Amino acid sequence: MARILYVNVPAHGHVNPTLPVVAELAARGHQVVYYNSASFEQIISATGAGFRPYPNSDRSEIEFAGRVNNLVNVTRYLLEESLHLTPFLLEETAREKPDVIVFDSIALWGMAVARLQKIPSIASITTLINDGVSGILNWRDYLYIIRKGLSALPALQRLRRRLVKSHGHDIFPGNAILPCRGDANMAFTSRHFQPQTAYIDESFHFVGPSIHAATRKKTDFPWERLDLERPIIYLSLGTLYNNNPNFYRMVYTAFSDHAAQFILSLGKESAILDTGAVPDNFIVQPNVPQLEVLQKVVLFVTHGGMNSVNESLYYGVPLVVVPQQIEQAINGRQVARHGAGIVLADSPPYGKLSADLLRQSVAKVLADHLYRQNAEKIRQSFREAGGYQRAASLIASKLP
Ligand code: UDP
Repeated sequence: MARILYVNVPAHGHVNPTLPVVAELAARGHQVVYYNSASFEQIISATGAGFRPYPNSDRSEIEFAGRVNNLVNVTRYLLEESLHLTPFLLEETAREKPDVIVFDSIALWGMAVARLQKIPSIASITTLINDGVSGILNWRDYLYIIRKGLSALPALQRLRRRLVKSHGHDIFPGNAILPCRGDANMAFTSRHFQPQTAYIDESFHFVGPSIHAATRKKTDFPWERLDLERPIIYLSLGTLYNNNPNFYRMVYTAFSDHAAQFILSLGKESAILDTGAVPDNFIVQPNVPQLEVLQKVVLFVTHGGMNSVNESLYYGVPLVVVPQQIEQAINGRQVARHGAGIVLADSPPYGKLSADLLRQSVAKVLADHLYRQNAEKIRQSFREAGGYQRAASLIASKLP
């Protein structure tokens, strides 16, 4: 029987869109073996895919979250992980003999093994493709990248050389480290929402957001507290940037006397965050069933993680994006370019804004129906892109 290996990194934003895809592949009778850190076992096994944990990966999800605050740290983490995950995965592929490897576009070890063993490959891209996009970064972003990146460059190059020394030059397709490219490249957005760039060639497929609530972890939510007579607004900083009590206090100041009801996802650390008294018009939870919540709201105030942007627009919900880092700033600018929302505080150090500005921006998006109309246009392009069914068909088409 044909075998598919799915290789990912320990982050919900990179895993969530893949869950409906592997569930669909399993339902069609394909054998999928999925590699990730131990803490992802439950949600991955529930799709019907076989789960294999990375060695010593009990704390990987937490380590990844700790490094993700800037691009250099993430790249370093990925190179370090590649030093031991590449030999691990080489042994696994020798035993599993996969017909195709699907790897996340930052899972360097997945690309390395596919290249070394000449196994047909697909990159699974859960972000916008920013390579070669003109006008999306400004001089402040470049300055920030140079300041953060320059001093770390020798360390990154050293790690890269160690990998090349162990496995040969073929391990990387060119001089760059990221993003990883496969024989085919599958992006979870629509061609309409992806900015133009010459980097994209015929190997790229835009399958749209991959969304299927049944594949998500069951999350309790006090639905009986929702006041459907009032507009409802959802706020979240996602799963990696949510340890931010100052932001939550600012949000309470901005909206405690607002006519709308607010749902706030505080994140895993919520029990230890000192956010002050919760206003009466807020429902605050450590984690919310985001896909269901988005179907009840008029607006999403988000950090602009790609999945949050995708999921919001998939339900036609306009956004106010408050990015916490550069990639989210780019996502937010793309939302603004399409007129589906507003991006705020998108210059380094990213995400610093006043309660007044946030309140005014929320009022602006609510008052102008064009934001929702434009969100609807993107929604249309997302629905037409085919989603997880198209992704599964693309992967299946590479099987013998
Ligand atoms: N999410 C959720 N409930 C929450 C917060 C987040 O289900 O309370 C999910 C959300 O639906 C999305 C993912 O977590 O699929 C967050 O991914 P995103 O790319 O938006 O941000 P990241 O967490 O990677 O920064």
